[in-house]
Amino acid sequence: MKVGVLALQGAVREHLRALEGVGVEACAVKSAARLVGLDGLVLPGGESTTMSLLAEGRLLEALRVLSSGGFPMFGTCAGMILLADEVEGREGPIVGGIDITVARNASGRQVDSFETLLDIEGLGPDVPAVFIRAPYVTRVGPDVRVLARHEGMAVMARQGRILVASFHPELTEDLRVHRAFVDMIRELRREGEPG
Ligand code: GLN
Repeated sequence: MKVGVLALQGAVREHLRALEGVGVEACAVKSAARLVGLDGLVLPGGESTTMSLLAEGRLLEALRVLSSGGFPMFGTCAGMILLADEVEGREGPIVGGIDITVARNASGRQVDSFETLLDIEGLGPDVPAVFIRAPYVTRVGPDVRVLARHEGMAVMARQGRILVASFHPELTEDLRVHRAFVDMIRELRREGEPG
């Protein structure tokens, strides 16, 4: 299995390392051409506006085609902003694919950065998670399954083949979240097999 990491900016190397740690081939994706032959794609944390500007053109178009076509994608932090169908204060999604609304750099109760343990559905009650100027999920659509919450707010969710997390699983040594994404790809591949 080969999984790409969108490599325009942000926490790319850490995701590559985590994917290799769960036993898949991982590669950095800087252009639309590098999306060919992949089984899934991670959209890392970083700065969503910068990433959207760097992706502008063929790459952004290719990402939109993939996400609407059911290609497995996992967005963390800024990557979650890219995959959200609605971003507060912005007209239209960047890539889109999951029926949630997010607020970038949410102010007020927003804590700059912190680390905590999350209870993630199917993974356990003690998954370490690093939040860095995390986006808030302010709306969750009816077909979206919330997999984890922090202080009542959704911080990890899935719809179809799109998985998102407002934290950075790649900044910890715990590989359970990456393994869950890879398992999701495997599960979907099995469903696609004849008979
Ligand atoms: N606040 C950043 C943004 O709006 C996301 C932060 C992160 O990815 N750690 O893109």
